[in-house]
Amino acid sequence: MKSTLLTRSLTLALAATVGLASAASDYPYRPVPLNQVSVLEGFWLPRFETNRLVTVWADFKKSEETGRISNFARAGKLEDGPFKGIPFDDSDVFKIVEGAAYTLATHPDPTLDAYLDGVIAKMAAAQEPDGYLYTARTLGFINGMTGKERWSNMGSSHELYNIGHLYEAAAAHHAVTGKRTLLDVACKSADLIDRTFGPGESQRKGTSGHEEIEIGLCKLYRATGEKRYLDLAKFFIDMRGRKDLRKLYGSYNQDHLPVVEQTEAVGHAVRAGYLYAGMADVAALTGDTSYIAAIDRLWENVVSKKLHLNGGIGARHQGEAFGENYELPNESAYLETCAAIANALWNQRMFLLHGDAKYIDVLERIVYNGFLSGIAITGDEFFYPNPLASSGGYKRSKWFGCSCCPVNIVRFIPQLAEFTYAQRDAAVYVNLYVASSAKLKTSAGDVTVTQKTDYPWSGNVRIAVAPAKDGTPFSLKLRIPGWAIGKPVPSDLYTQARPGSLKDVAIAVNGAPVPLTLEKGYVTINRAWRGGDAVTLAFAMPVRRIQAHPEVKDNAGRLAVERGPLVYCAEAADNAGHALSLMLPADAAFAEGTVAVLGHSLVSLQATAQSVVADLRGTRTAQPVTATLIPYFAWCHRGAGEMQVWFPASPESAVPRSNIKASASHCWELDSVHAACDGTLPKNSGDHSVKRMTWWPRRGSAEWIQYEFAAPETLKGCAVYWFDDTGKGSCRLPASWKLQTPDASGNWADVPVSGAYPVAKDTLCEIAFATPVTTRVLRLNVQLQPNVSGGVLEWKLQPQ
Ligand SMILES: [Zn+2]
Repeated sequence: MKSTLLTRSLTLALAATVGLASAASDYPYRPVPLNQVSVLEGFWLPRFETNRLVTVWADFKKSEETGRISNFARAGKLEDGPFKGIPFDDSDVFKIVEGAAYTLATHPDPTLDAYLDGVIAKMAAAQEPDGYLYTARTLGFINGMTGKERWSNMGSSHELYNIGHLYEAAAAHHAVTGKRTLLDVACKSADLIDRTFGPGESQRKGTSGHEEIEIGLCKLYRATGEKRYLDLAKFFIDMRGRKDLRKLYGSYNQDHLPVVEQTEAVGHAVRAGYLYAGMADVAALTGDTSYIAAIDRLWENVVSKKLHLNGGIGARHQGEAFGENYELPNESAYLETCAAIANALWNQRMFLLHGDAKYIDVLERIVYNGFLSGIAITGDEFFYPNPLASSGGYKRSKWFGCSCCPVNIVRFIPQLAEFTYAQRDAAVYVNLYVASSAKLKTSAGDVTVTQKTDYPWSGNVRIAVAPAKDGTPFSLKLRIPGWAIGKPVPSDLYTQARPGSLKDVAIAVNGAPVPLTLEKGYVTINRAWRGGDAVTLAFAMPVRRIQAHPEVKDNAGRLAVERGPLVYCAEAADNAGHALSLMLPADAAFAEGTVAVLGHSLVSLQATAQSVVADLRGTRTAQPVTATLIPYFAWCHRGAGEMQVWFPASPESAVPRSNIKASASHCWELDSVHAACDGTLPKNSGDHSVKRMTWWPRRGSAEWIQYEFAAPETLKGCAVYWFDDTGKGSCRLPASWKLQTPDASGNWADVPVSGAYPVAKDTLCEIAFATPVTTRVLRLNVQLQPNVSGGVLEWKLQPQ
């Protein structure tokens, strides 16, 4: 299946092609490529090392175990066997190859290099003679996703999505290793796509249901200089919303309007982020200002109405999609790790277009919060959604059936080096405060910039500037983070209760203070630089309370806590097993401390808080407690437990801790036994907006839930609100139920009740006891209906 290699005239400068910008006409602001940036000892070095030494190999191992790599070998007739998995699994392996290639740029590793050669040989073998590469179809795996034949089901086949990731991997692998093995596969594929799709009469007028190929084609164009690839990227973008030329997929795929007419971010969030990033690339490479106007509008919409505090986007589980404006829930927030990555990649490109620090403010918020939570400190466990609250059942996983997030992380972390610095002519931009050293070629001469800092733990940074030639004049542009000066996001979506200002920032050159004049979010130091020059920055890092825009209903009456770029949260592990019942009064005092999480010392915050407890009568009392808050990214490393980011400021908005200890024969991992006694009544039996306990996936069995009290309680009855999701799932009302208490000898005895146990939907099913019962334990026994499961939304006791 090996083809003759296409010959191309390549204008490759190895060092320049790792970065986003290398074509002659490209972004006005250029990143400093990741192979010219060394990450030094500080916050990020352990993360880079873990990515390189653990995550790359963990991802490859899972890809081998699950058949993702075998699919290429099988399609290439190197081994026998059928296709395994999901048709877009090809993209997972391309993403790991891309990430692995980036690590080779700074850490040559013959073992990894040889391993990549092996995987790439399988990819090359899997490519059909005309350039088609999609292992599912080559192996004859046809389903509703793939469609019957090539390009027959572009809305869901992911044929072009997969190879978009191939192109990104190929550009990275070629730039770093100089090898053409994967680049040749990519070009042969792109040539086929270019023959198949386009404006010509005989060419198809389709576009991909999942954007990604646009970014990939721009990278392939930069790597090869082949303009057809850039034209093709623009063609696929311009095909969206063209109902005069094709049948549209709709808003879920950002295919409801031509892109230049889109004004609101809608649909699947990862797709949207990749589309907007691709539009930025094409705009930079072609000078298309209509694209820039469109993505400027879409960016305004996201940062002012659809951005979660952790930088995440895509509020809804349903469709992994954006919600309405200001629809920013906490526990039910989806916020896929891939969407955080897509949002960061887009914001980096927006900076490269406009040179404004506000885009890096968004990028930084993502990177330290809603992205970083996606990977465990150990590097081998991952979140897919990154919610802002948890009832306790949610935790990271080693892998997923659809495992887009773990493999996206592996290629994203090395790119952080490339987000750190940028340049334009003789101006050098310091965008992120990362302990690192960068070699830059400016129009005024070469310079090495070295940062020492333990940011984000402190706001102190020392930057040594060493020009190759003493007296080199250039501008050093230092980003003043929005969080430091009262602008946590570049919109009114989140504000600081007591805003910071430029008074909280100090900058000096060789000890002499620099006047702080802001331009596009930067302080500029113009100077003829000499070896030994040092710039010091000090950003004050007080604890800042954050409030959400009044239109954000889920955060009404709630405050979040930030310090520097980090969002903080409370989790069960530090707070006696309860986080959701914590309330932070507006005047809560904070003290800094440290917490060790898996041997890593993190800055923690101790707050004078209150814990809200409800008794059997539902009466709420607030008890003073010292709450411990840790950085949000670090939650869920000490077992799954409750977690909360947005704290109520009054007892009414808290989720009270019950003084009941609830347990059950079984509870589905995403539900919570304590939901039964959280005092929250649903609107109906199918209400998915309140927490529940279910025996899912058990069906037809005898199950129970029980309450235990600290001291005996006297009860005259109780009531159950049953869960029933007819039309959505397989939970139904139970066949029957009854109550029991332990008798004197510890055996379960039926509670005498008045009348029959009622079973009904959409109401509290009340039962009165024949006489009041005094007990420390009450058990509710349930017989599920045949073949279905069941659950409880609320089980209320009636004390005497
Ligand atoms: Zn993902």
